Amino acid sequence: MTRVSIRDDLRALEGYHSPQVDVAVRLNTNEAPDEPPVEFREAVAAEVARVTWNRYPDRSATALREAIASLHGVDPSMIFAANGSNEVLQTILLTFAGPGRTVATFEPTYQLHAHIARLSGATVVEGERGDGFVLDLDEVRRVVDSANPSVTFLCSPNNPTGVVDAESDVRAVIDMAPGLVVVDEAYGQFSSWTAQSLVSDDAAVAVVRTFSKTWSMAAGRLGYVIAPAWMVAELDKVVLPYHLDAVKQAAGVLAIGYLDEMNARVERIVAERDRLVAALADLPVDVFPSGANFVLFRPRATSGRTVWQGLLDRGVLVRDCSGWPRLADCLRVTIGTPDENRIFHESLQEVLS
Ligand code: PMP
Repeated sequence: MTRVSIRDDLRALEGYHSPQVDVAVRLNTNEAPDEPPVEFREAVAAEVARVTWNRYPDRSATALREAIASLHGVDPSMIFAANGSNEVLQTILLTFAGPGRTVATFEPTYQLHAHIARLSGATVVEGERGDGFVLDLDEVRRVVDSANPSVTFLCSPNNPTGVVDAESDVRAVIDMAPGLVVVDEAYGQFSSWTAQSLVSDDAAVAVVRTFSKTWSMAAGRLGYVIAPAWMVAELDKVVLPYHLDAVKQAAGVLAIGYLDEMNARVERIVAERDRLVAALADLPVDVFPSGANFVLFRPRATSGRTVWQGLLDRGVLVRDCSGWPRLADCLRVTIGTPDENRIFHESLQEVLS
């Protein structure tokens, strides 16, 4: 059999690795610990029964755009939705990055920003975050001046560090960056502020959100961007026609009806996070302060990989960041249910003792 070779520029690329292991306590992918309300699930089932299966879905997802727009108090022309925020990011990068263009990230941050940018054919320039993984504006200036990026990524709260970028820093980056600034707010509900108000017709700023985390809908694959209408019109040209299926469009509209439940979930997760962080203070680990639904930590005397394996042996899966540049020995744990957090804490205690 003759194999065809992949694109030259993709040959050295590694795929995205996040093992899906069947264990009792899964705290590795930052989902919400609980399912959405049963009324939501029943309403989605009723909508499924009403789908006109032989016809394509509403190509512009009108009802969904309107529901998301009213959630944020913006015009529906400022909303573009896709299959998870990853597809939103991909569409943005296909539209505004690509061959011959540069994309800037400030590491460590969400790995898919750089990964999808490379898939688009763009060159990625990785800037560094400063002490405590906080944005360093001198470094941002150096990167944007030297690389002239078409797209600059920020992520607040940042995955995997949990750092919330200061509003003044985000405004400064927007002033400095020559091209589009994407603020990934996948964990935005945990933050005390949102960059949404920085989106305007005169600014190339886009704020990305997802239903995968606080809305308890990771299985549904739905994300969106709030952006100027002119930018959304460009994204609509690039994305595949009918990319959002009818069930997903209906599920998104219905989910927004459970906003109070979502906000209550965020409060519960934050309380659990603060409880877990306080409990970790008794263990020989360094904990990075988090403004999200996960916590990055580094065992002081045992290698990160050993601790990751020890936890897995006890049925607890966390994210192994220990081999990532700048994150030697670090692990990231998602805040789960009180029971899951207790099991994680007890298992970690055992592994470290
Ligand atoms: N952005 C960030 C910062 C994330 O952490 C994630 C999920 N891990 C995503 C985007 C993608 O989420 P989804 O595609 O499920 O919306």
